[in-house]
Amino acid sequence: MSTLINPSTGAELDVSPASATLEEADAVIARAHDAFPAWRDVAPGERARLLRAFAALVDEHLEELAQLEVLNAGHTIGNARWEAGNVRDCLNYYSAAPERLFGRQIPVPGGTDVTFHEPLGVVGIIVPWNFPMPIAAWGFAPALAAGNTVVLKPAELTPLTAIRIGELAVEAGLPEGVLNVVPGKGSVVGERFVTHPLVRKVCFTGSTTVGKRIMAGCADQVKRVTLELGGKSANIVFADTDVAAAAASAPYAVFDNAGQDCCARSRILVQRSAYDEFVGRLETAVKALRVIDPADEQSEMGPMVSAGQRDSVQAYLDGASVAFTGSVPDGPGWWLPPTVVESSDTTEAVWREEVFGPVVAVMAFDDEDEAIALANDTEYGLSGSIFTSDVGRALRVARRVEAGNLSVNSHSAVRYWTPFGGYKQSGLGRELGPDAPNAFTEEKNVFIAH
Ligand code: NAD
Repeated sequence: MSTLINPSTGAELDVSPASATLEEADAVIARAHDAFPAWRDVAPGERARLLRAFAALVDEHLEELAQLEVLNAGHTIGNARWEAGNVRDCLNYYSAAPERLFGRQIPVPGGTDVTFHEPLGVVGIIVPWNFPMPIAAWGFAPALAAGNTVVLKPAELTPLTAIRIGELAVEAGLPEGVLNVVPGKGSVVGERFVTHPLVRKVCFTGSTTVGKRIMAGCADQVKRVTLELGGKSANIVFADTDVAAAAASAPYAVFDNAGQDCCARSRILVQRSAYDEFVGRLETAVKALRVIDPADEQSEMGPMVSAGQRDSVQAYLDGASVAFTGSVPDGPGWWLPPTVVESSDTTEAVWREEVFGPVVAVMAFDDEDEAIALANDTEYGLSGSIFTSDVGRALRVARRVEAGNLSVNSHSAVRYWTPFGGYKQSGLGRELGPDAPNAFTEEKNVFIAH
């Protein structure tokens, strides 16, 4: 694997895990397949206990995992602690699933009919670099709970926390081969999850381009696939809202994780009569954002993950009408200031494309219909926010915005209790929420003649 870099300083890290070869990937998939029958047959209460032990060990190592993410991905320490805690919480939440993986008894003539949720076998999980810990856990926690074994490929840039979590699983008592972390290239290890017949489902989070390729590849074996892809989400601010509160919260909805967030509300739509007040207050809020060393407890935004990502974001700013920016620290590292662009042309790249960095475009609208039309004028449909004090309008607009995850008068992040996923080209299938374990099973129907 190429040398890992600390994004906030540009310094090389003194660890660089080896990239798995195709043969090594095959060997790990074989190991996961061998471990499957015994894991499937672990009594539900015992599988639950093992997942809770795993959660407790993650909790014990929360600070270590968080510090590792600050170093490897440049996440602020506050965020990184939340992310490690989210792994723990997902494991605890889904530890209740093995004992509640209910089928149904369906009334039929001539006998008794029952259904079972049976695990698929080996599940492949492909993770991007933007949220290495949570996105891994959203896949492996429900997959393991449902009785599958897992092969997990972290992103090339950010493998360290996944490797450590894999070690903690074994230390917690999960049998060898049940959760396997395989660092390596997307084109080698990731592709192998798609082509290997023993991998029965692929959960992919990443770019829409790669997601389409994976979906096409999975078609060959009618392999189950879940896709969590890009977004270009709208934050819709009506003039009847508390404009000061909406403006104060808007920066966190897009600049969190330096904008490298598929749910980033990277388009702000503001009703024209409140536009000037909103933009004025937004400027104050953006300038006050603490963009400093992510290891500092006060840090609210860190660097971009890599020089390449920073360059790709910067390219969107060429020719864009930048209204104002926040600050960045002096010195090395892949820093970019939080940047606000005023937009009036919906064909501009910065308005249409997923920038995946700390850039937000603001545009005025006149009425509810126009706000909805602008919000839906995108190939994506992942998330969004609606700010209004009119509850009827909140529900009307929420029902008409084509996106999987909306919040009213908040920018609620992904919550493990509720389903998460995208409309249109933002994805396929849902993760998290109470039904997630079922997505890692086949439903089997058995009829018993009387
Ligand atoms: P990416 O698609 O390049 O890579 C994601 C993962 O896929 C990495 O682990 C990579 O190694 C692997 N991969 C790459 N090519 C592959 C292939 N041919 N076959 C199998 N695996 C392959 O994306 P990225 O640059 O790591 O992440 C940024 C993108 O991910 C953004 O577009 C962002 O919107 C999206 N994203 C979406 C969500 C979501 O939940 N919807 C979450 C995070 C990131």
